Amino acid sequence: MQSGAHPTMEVMCHVSNCKFYKNDYCHASKIEVNPKHINRANTSDDALCSTFIPGK
Ligand code: SF4
Repeated sequence: MQSGAHPTMEVMCHVSNCKFYKNDYCHASKIEVNPKHINRANTSDDALCSTFIPGK
């Protein structure tokens, strides 16, 4: 990876009613994940995909 470049990765996702969901993968060009509470997450339940849009 070049210095300063953003990482790219496949995102497996099982939120089947999201607009970006297809065959167990996310097809959004990028996603944003935010903590449920201010700044920190204590469990995975506290880390939420903010890119989610109900679409199906
Ligand atoms: S935007 Fe978030 S919820 Fe929707 S498919 Fe991608 S990772 Fe899943």
